[in-house]
Amino acid sequence: MPHLFSIFLHLLFFKLVAPVTFRHHRYDELVRMLYKVHNECPYITRVYSIGRSVKGRHLYVLEFSDYPGTHEPLEPEVKYVGNMHGNEVLGRELLLQLSEFLCEEFRNGNQRIVRLVEGTRIHIMPSMNPDGYEVAAAQGQDTFGYLVGRNNANGVDLNRNFPDLNTYIYYNEKNGGPNHHLPLPDNWKSQVEPETQAVIQWIRSFNFVLSANLHGGAVVANYPYDKSFEHRVRGFRRTANTPTPDDKLFQKLAKVYSYAHGWMHQGWNCGDYFPDGITNGASWYSLSKGMQDFNYLHTNCFEITLELSCDKFPRQEELQREWLGNREALIQFLEQVHQGIKGMVLDENYNNVANAVISVSGINHDVTSGDHGDYFRLLLPGTYTVTATAPGFDPETLIVTVGPGEPKLVNFQLKRSILQATPKRKAPNSGHRNKVLPKKVQPQAAGKKELKMKQSQRGPA
Ligand SMILES: [Zn+2]
Repeated sequence: MPHLFSIFLHLLFFKLVAPVTFRHHRYDELVRMLYKVHNECPYITRVYSIGRSVKGRHLYVLEFSDYPGTHEPLEPEVKYVGNMHGNEVLGRELLLQLSEFLCEEFRNGNQRIVRLVEGTRIHIMPSMNPDGYEVAAAQGQDTFGYLVGRNNANGVDLNRNFPDLNTYIYYNEKNGGPNHHLPLPDNWKSQVEPETQAVIQWIRSFNFVLSANLHGGAVVANYPYDKSFEHRVRGFRRTANTPTPDDKLFQKLAKVYSYAHGWMHQGWNCGDYFPDGITNGASWYSLSKGMQDFNYLHTNCFEITLELSCDKFPRQEELQREWLGNREALIQFLEQVHQGIKGMVLDENYNNVANAVISVSGINHDVTSGDHGDYFRLLLPGTYTVTATAPGFDPETLIVTVGPGEPKLVNFQLKRSILQATPKRKAPNSGHRNKVLPKKVQPQAAGKKELKMKQSQRGPA
């Protein structure tokens, strides 16, 4: 009898605290879900829109923070973006589940989640392409229209719609020039879709440090660059491993996800094989104007692309298994923003120095301090020579040893330079480097780690 009673209590408990519904959510239901989570956790969440789709649907973001709406210096900003391809829907549902999970676990006093929310500002956008989703969902999940709903309402693939900054960086790597915050073309707004424009303005206005972009059609964690060094040779797409200067770090970020995921790390999924469940984007298949390369080249944000399901529109009955397979990975990836070094850049009077450039010797990719003078530089454990520079100030160089675990706090206090021959301060995002660059990390020649089984007949993910 006591046994039956405990089963009853157990059922009652789950009924009360786990009202998680594993089903697909159309646009109206998605909006209701976001506000439901906000109403359940009003003190640690905020719902905001970054703009509208072609058909006027909002691109909503749910923010988690102990001070929603505020950037707290030294607390990193991290984001998840789902459903950029309207017919790749698992990410959208996982991000709704994650939102509900973060809220409930915070309320339940789960120390790991409390720590995460109090030390991190998390931005969750379940759908970047709500118009495409509605088309895919209206068609139903059991049909064979593999690409129906992939594009936005103007028929444009949003993951081929960002300004191409790779061409500039590959040139600069050979010939010298800025290695970060590459400028946008003057007429960029007229060249991109409304959804892309909203995302670009979003990622320029927050100092994001880490991000993942959730897709479907394969099961693998894909890291930059997506565009190969020689994208097209004599009309053919050139596929070749094309590492960033932060290649080892990106591989680690991808592996954290794949190994915390239920089966991604096993490598064999959907008829493809990826060692450790990760791949360099360009070594799988080269694509131009993608979002992850743009994040890395135009902002401080390190983004990877997560391919999460063989089936782009999984059946409703599979959603619970998928959530259980991804839950730990989604949390661990957020926790990865807390590694490397971070700190303040101040002047002699303790004023914040925004847009100071933080360079790490041996890694040809700088980051900048944000509006509050704080900076974040993800790094693997090791000893580094780190230099902070800002126009009008003498550079300051420090030797830093980074361990595993918590990021090391490294503050800089810059002195006004006596030589006033420094050039005028340029606008942010103009890639202000006027000193000699350290020896570049040259992209490797095409070849050795290239995967042979690249694109299967299933088409792009
Ligand atoms: Zn996709």
